Amino acid sequence: MTPKETYVGGCLCGEIRFEAIGPALKPHTCSCEMCQRHSGSLTTVWVEFPKDSVSWTGHGGAPLTYRSSQYSQRAFCSVCGSTLGAIDDAPTVALVVGCFDKTNRKELIPLAHSYKGGRPKWWSIGVEGE
Ligand SMILES: [Zn+2]
Ligand SMILES: [Zn+2]
Repeated sequence: MTPKETYVGGCLCGEIRFEAIGPALKPHTCSCEMCQRHSGSLTTVWVEFPKDSVSWTGHGGAPLTYRSSQYSQRAFCSVCGSTLGAIDDAPTVALVVGCFDKTNRKELIPLAHSYKGGRPKWWSIGVEGE
């Protein structure tokens, strides 16, 4: 049996660390206003895992959350403020790829771009989408 892929990463200060067991689902970018304000980036790169596949392994345990919509909470480090992802009420955790220790993995290449119209026209990311 092939061992499942493991993805590790964490926040800027290292208090929050995660380990996610693949497969990494729905890699995509998003340029909606909520993602922009949450991350400070014009476009956020996301990948999803079933909630049970994500463990918070750092000293700080699970990240703090802010309820950003009826179905999801945004997760961040209480010490350094890094954006880590979104913890949905549905059993899904979406992690931002910028927090991964190894970002150059083919399974993390975005397949779609949500809210493409939310970014300025000069900002090109090379992924098709809405
Ligand atoms: Zn931190
Ligand atoms: Zn978004």
